[in-house]
Amino acid sequence: MQVLCKSAESSVETRCSVCGQGFILFWERQTRMEKGEALRQVETTLRHHHHKGPGAQAHPVTGFLIPAWDGPIAFSGAALLGNAPAWAL
Ligand SMILES: [Zn+2]
Repeated sequence: MQVLCKSAESSVETRCSVCGQGFILFWERQTRMEKGEALRQVETTLRHHHHKGPGAQAHPVTGFLIPAWDGPIAFSGAALLGNAPAWAL
């Protein structure tokens, strides 16, 4: 289960529990159980970003994958199967 996260101001699916920054999520697959599990991973990752600092700038400005992936984001399952638009990559 791979999720592509992109910070956004509106239509967000989740918010960082530390700074309140919103994120739009693009999903590789969408069963309810997998989504619940992946959302927990997203929340954990967002909290880890704050090891760098307390503000919303601790999060990447560009889209990022959870779990982290070394390949190009545009070719990730989450981007392709989630129909991520160009601005999210
Ligand atoms: Zn945050």
